[in-house]
Amino acid sequence: MAENTTKEKDIRDNEKKPSIYSLQLSELESWLKEQGEPKFRAAQIFDWLYQKRVGHFEEMTNLAKGLREKLANYFTITTLNTLVQHTSQDGTLKFLFELQDGYSIETVLMRHEYGNSVCVTTQVGCRMGCTFCASTLGGLKRDLEPGEIVAQVLKVQKALDETDERVSSIVVMGIGEPFDNYNSLLSFLRIVNDDKGLNIGARHITVSTSGIIPRIYDFADEGLQINFAISLHAPNTELRTRLMPVNKAYDLQDLMKAVKYYTEKTGRRITFEYGLFGGVNDQVKHAEELARLIKGLKCHVNLIPVNYVPERDYVRTPRNQIFEFEKTLKKNGINVTIRREQGHDIEAACGQLRAKERKEEAR
Ligand code: SAH
Repeated sequence: MAENTTKEKDIRDNEKKPSIYSLQLSELESWLKEQGEPKFRAAQIFDWLYQKRVGHFEEMTNLAKGLREKLANYFTITTLNTLVQHTSQDGTLKFLFELQDGYSIETVLMRHEYGNSVCVTTQVGCRMGCTFCASTLGGLKRDLEPGEIVAQVLKVQKALDETDERVSSIVVMGIGEPFDNYNSLLSFLRIVNDDKGLNIGARHITVSTSGIIPRIYDFADEGLQINFAISLHAPNTELRTRLMPVNKAYDLQDLMKAVKYYTEKTGRRITFEYGLFGGVNDQVKHAEELARLIKGLKCHVNLIPVNYVPERDYVRTPRNQIFEFEKTLKKNGINVTIRREQGHDIEAACGQLRAKERKEEAR
């Protein structure tokens, strides 16, 4: 009994402590300085966390005992509890993780010829209200801390350690709107990108947004070399508002101006994600309108055949019509690809697993 109580107290205390995974290297250096410790300890701690991937401060044996205890008093090393793990026939792994407060999030590992890609979640739920998406069904519960996003990548990396493989790229395309949790997103990007952290190159990281315009300008000004995608899904305001309520606050024409600013400021190409929803936005006239909208922009279109979500009533566009749409864009000089689909048999699309397994939470 006594032991139990102590354990519960430990858990409660840990919940209050910030995750050490939330700290960028420079922030850890500042903390060490405040503690009267030399700065180089930060790199040693990063090595334990991200290269050796230990789960306890006591294991950091090149640090003095006093410092290890201090670290344990201030911080927690976030652990995610695996609630469900599904393996698809194509090798895709989908995880449902439980956070310390009991909420659940999804993380997906996709295996490509060019490497292993992890899709991370940035919020518990989402408040954008896109009418086709399972992630937004129960609204937004809370933002994730940077450390909770970092922990997802580490958890997948630890699974890959067993076969001596490495996470080679990250897509921020899981549950949530990354630009609605902007500061945590930026910390996360800097931590995984740091060569003393997980050392994942900026060009191997992709961030996707539904179009929160002020943050697009901020992101352009960050000077990062990260790949950037916009969920567009419609060639005109009327249709986009129907599919994505965010378009009421941040209109398509203004979005295009922000995209132009981004491409000019960074010199980088932008990706437009365009989901094909049967009978809604998938006709040749839509492709022509889309081509007119984005003509002249440094961009690329990724066509996504809709993922069926039971709670939503969108249907798939027939195969030949998808090719027709692609052909029309190409004819108009637009770079376009059709997204290869993975993990169909394991509900790997955003929010589907959480919606199914945690009905009360995603409602
Ligand atoms: N909130 C961000 C990050 C999510 S990325 C964003 O909107 O960009 C996930 C991508 O999958 C987005 O482009 C989203 O619009 C798309 N998506 C969501 N539900 C889908 C569905 N049922 N079928 C096809 N694409 C979907």
